[in-house]
Amino acid sequence: MTQLVSTRLVTAYAAPAAAAPLVATQIERRAVGAHDVLIEIKYSGICHSDIHTVRGEWGEQSFPLAPGHEIVGVVTEIGAEVTRHQIGDTVGVGCMVNSCGECDYCLAGDQQYCRQGMVGTYGAVDRDGSTTQGGYSTHVVVTEDFVLSIPEGINLQNAAPLLCAGITTYSPLKRWGAGAGRKVAIVGLGGLGHMAVKIAAAMGAEVTVLSQTLSKQEDGLRLGATHYYATSNPETFKELAGSFDLILNTVSAPLEISSYLGLLRVDGAMVNVGAPAEPLPVNAMALIGGRRSFAGSMIGGIAETQEMLDFCAAHSLSADIELISAEQINEAYERVLSSDVRYRFVIDTATMA
Ligand code: NAP
Ligand code: ZN
Repeated sequence: MTQLVSTRLVTAYAAPAAAAPLVATQIERRAVGAHDVLIEIKYSGICHSDIHTVRGEWGEQSFPLAPGHEIVGVVTEIGAEVTRHQIGDTVGVGCMVNSCGECDYCLAGDQQYCRQGMVGTYGAVDRDGSTTQGGYSTHVVVTEDFVLSIPEGINLQNAAPLLCAGITTYSPLKRWGAGAGRKVAIVGLGGLGHMAVKIAAAMGAEVTVLSQTLSKQEDGLRLGATHYYATSNPETFKELAGSFDLILNTVSAPLEISSYLGLLRVDGAMVNVGAPAEPLPVNAMALIGGRRSFAGSMIGGIAETQEMLDFCAAHSLSADIELISAEQINEAYERVLSSDVRYRFVIDTATMA
């Protein structure tokens, strides 16, 4: 157990300005405090949220900004009062690194809805006043309560995307009852979508993929879907009308929500996890006419994230990834934007040295 008193400079890939390509740079990490762990990052996933953020689509940000909230690595130093993790542990960090810890939501385990605002892993003001920097980096210092344990049996590089794509889909699938006898549609087969298919199938649901085209049909069926439809074909909306108990929308762009609501059974729910900046208009008649609901969901709490990791390990689930070097990040962004991702890009941080 060592205690460093000074901050340290570490290598990171950061956007120097809104929408600028990411470049190698040095960022500061705080000294390891009493409740902190220092993590040597091994792999870092690329989430579409990283792209929304560095392109300024979700509002103003301070730059330079190193994104990345699908972090896995090894603990190399712990603070004097850390009890949850030890040096050498394989750990992960997701979309948040702190919260007030005292409000009703934090106490209920829903830190992501903290009344004082959760502290995002990057581009957020932490409780000490510093601005957080994300996982496209060699090291990160995080308070122990926001550090997850990666169970044995999951390949580390394939585990990284579980920290965002995994929990963001697991949480609503569980809450809205995906399971045996339930028909669940997943809209968009990207990073979140492919995890949603795997998890919903593992929960026992009958899974349908609604993708723009049939180009990934073989993959969708291999991942666990039973049916696969193209949303570019208007017949899809006629054929599937009134079919689903639950629709999980993972699409990063605006969709015509009311047409999808028509695919729900009476009492069905459509849950949006896709987060385009634009409003999504809803025709009230599409809700009223079937006692349907339209809802949203943001990542999941810390205990639920650990539950998801353990669920994935128990079901031998992890992400399908394309491992890239740090130099390929900007090219990977372009491929994500053109829906050319199979199904998550993960950065090998050893290539940042
Ligand atoms: P992604 O890998 O780019 O996947 C999005 C998928 O949506 C694409 O693969 C594509 O699937 C479909 N799509 C893209 N553009 C479309 C368009 N114009 N029309 C119809 N379909 C389109 O992105 P991701 O990383 O999974 O993230 C998805 C969204 O979730 C993003 O907005 C992200 O910010 C958000 N997100 C939210 C949370 C949360 O807590 N709620 C957490 C993480 C991410 P097909 O090719 O199959 O059509
Ligand atoms: Zn994410």
